[in-house]
Amino acid sequence: MKRHNFSAGPCILPKEVMLKASEAVLDFDNGLSILEISHRSKSFVDIMEKSRSLALELLGLEGKGYKALFLQGGASTQFLMVALNLLEKRAAYLNTGTWSDKAIQEARIYGEVLEVASSKDANFNTIPKGYTVPSDYDYFHCTSNNTIFGTQMKSFPKCNIPMVCDMSSDIFSRKLDYSQFDLIYAGAQKNIGPAGATLVVVREDILGKVSRKIPSIMDYKMQISKDSMFNTPPVFSIYTSMLNMEWLKDLGGISAIEKENNKKAQLIYSEIDLNPLFNGYAKNEDRSKMNATFTLTNQKLKETFETMLDEEGINGLNGHRSVGGYRASMYNAMPLESVGVLVDIMSDLERKA
Ligand SMILES: *Cc1c(COP(=O)(O)O)cnc(C)c1O
Repeated sequence: MKRHNFSAGPCILPKEVMLKASEAVLDFDNGLSILEISHRSKSFVDIMEKSRSLALELLGLEGKGYKALFLQGGASTQFLMVALNLLEKRAAYLNTGTWSDKAIQEARIYGEVLEVASSKDANFNTIPKGYTVPSDYDYFHCTSNNTIFGTQMKSFPKCNIPMVCDMSSDIFSRKLDYSQFDLIYAGAQKNIGPAGATLVVVREDILGKVSRKIPSIMDYKMQISKDSMFNTPPVFSIYTSMLNMEWLKDLGGISAIEKENNKKAQLIYSEIDLNPLFNGYAKNEDRSKMNATFTLTNQKLKETFETMLDEEGINGLNGHRSVGGYRASMYNAMPLESVGVLVDIMSDLERKA
């Protein structure tokens, strides 16, 4: 049976990327596996360099003072690494969901945190608006896409201080002026590659301004000076991420994939809006093009609906426990047809009910 993987992460990757990655597991370099070659070998150093430059190229940040790093520990480690490297006294955070909340908790270990705005009272079904970012703070931190609640920032505030963004679940999915950010981070397992690597893109001139001693492995400057190889990097995750970035580049880059992502979002949201059996969770103007969250209006249909999903090979549609209902994650590799299969089931359910 063909499976349609709507999982929030780890998640779908393009089939051809997985094929190439699996070939490299068996034979990458004259009979040697990608899993056994030295990370100091020329062939892996080339992969690391290519990955770092592809990330900057796709984001339109080449030659603009940024460095790309592939680190470990996931986006969750960036919650503290950002604060360690940038928080001298106090930082400003926008609280739009579970992940921002966690980033705030970690930053509080290192200094004072101001929540400039929060949508907690609305259980994060919306993005706060009308706040201002103060200029006398060390940096401003936001989360571009809220994977759990299905909201997404459509615009970003004007900032006189460095702007840091957790883009774990929508990096490479839409055109933005990425140079408005000074530091971007993203765990690989949503739109970049397999779990294990974390992409960090940082403007070098914001670093080196805090007075604390930073442990070497946590120090962006150290990681930059070691070309992202302070210690053994997650070679397989980085190699597969490189293949995935090449796939995206060949497709026409972010502007090409954005058109596909728009079509998928349009398809699912128009079904959610028109079908009386479903309610969208996120406020319309803030809803995410990557993760669509919705609930059934009639719980009696739950079993029927879920049986239909199983029969058509729909995987990973359960909502996060803090929201309930369903969540369709439609990252870059998700084909429009798969969203079509889901939407057909939703409209079949309406006919049956
Ligand atoms: C998944 C996710 C994280 C956590 O990523 P890990 O790599 O598992 O630490 C953080 N932020 C956002 C927005 C996410 O979607």
